[in-house]
Amino acid sequence: AKRSGRGRSVVYASSLGAASRRMHTIEQALREGLAHGQFELHFQPKVDARSLRALGVEALMRWEHPVLGSISPGEFIPAAERCGLIRELGALALEHACLAARELPRLSVAVNVSPLQLMEPGFVKSVERMLVSTGVGPSLLHLEVTESLMMEDAQAAFKRLHALRELGVHVALDDFGTGFSSLAYLRAFPFHTLKIDRSFVRSLTEHSDARAIVNTIVQMAGVLGMRTVAEGVETERELAIIRSIRCHEVQGYLVARPMSLPKLKDWLAGRPI
Ligand code: C2E
Ligand code: CA
Ligand code: CA
Ligand code: CA
Repeated sequence: AKRSGRGRSVVYASSLGAASRRMHTIEQALREGLAHGQFELHFQPKVDARSLRALGVEALMRWEHPVLGSISPGEFIPAAERCGLIRELGALALEHACLAARELPRLSVAVNVSPLQLMEPGFVKSVERMLVSTGVGPSLLHLEVTESLMMEDAQAAFKRLHALRELGVHVALDDFGTGFSSLAYLRAFPFHTLKIDRSFVRSLTEHSDARAIVNTIVQMAGVLGMRTVAEGVETERELAIIRSIRCHEVQGYLVARPMSLPKLKDWLAGRPI
């Protein structure tokens, strides 16, 4: 028993060691990356589900490290949250997104906002300043937040979101359906948009209850006056079902992958406005 116990703890310790070394490497590299301008936004179009006309884009952070190669936001965003760099990274995303919005007339630009960043004391003021300095119309800036925001202090989070709404900024609830107590939050706060998580979209073609659930979500959002976006649509079959349940907007590889601003402009130029 002693031997197996020891064996387990050795395996545990060494894998933990590798993970924490990687984390440390990433955190060091984040600091340098910010100083050296290694971060860039890519943009993924959101289109009208019926006409496929582009309505807006979602800004997604990209990081190409000279030695470590490309690191996914799924890894570096949590790292930035842990080591206190998310505010700086978030400010960069907000600024670059607003600058991009100026070059994309009529299209909304959505930025993902971490709970830590949103709850930062000066956040609403910094958004206001950014809108003024870039001249972007507030309703063209969409901020995407997840339910995890409401976990700590829902009351305080709602206050923040209200202040943003007052500015005229649009607020979207991201990854809808992956968290807890979703319905309670929807009643408590009037989001402009509800983004239905990719996991639901994926199961649409396989499970008949998935279709009933998404249908209900879309209906309910309609009653509450919210727009709906289906995330991660990859196939024509998924698109057909999304259309049949009258979800407003579609985002996913079927329409376009996230791309650099110049590529996005080329992509837009080849489409009906
Ligand atoms: P998210 O906000 O849910 O963004 C959607 C993710 O799904 C993106 O991954 C996008 O590239 C991917 N995606 C889009 N369409 C499809 C599809 O059809 N199929 C599949 N399989 N995937 C699709 P990405 O760019 O790796 O970003 C991952 C997450 O990192 C984002 O999830 C978001 O939570 C976070 N993130 C990215 N950029 C930022 C940022 O600037 N700030 C913050 N706070 N978070 C960010
Ligand atoms: Ca998002
Ligand atoms: Ca999402
Ligand atoms: Ca997500």
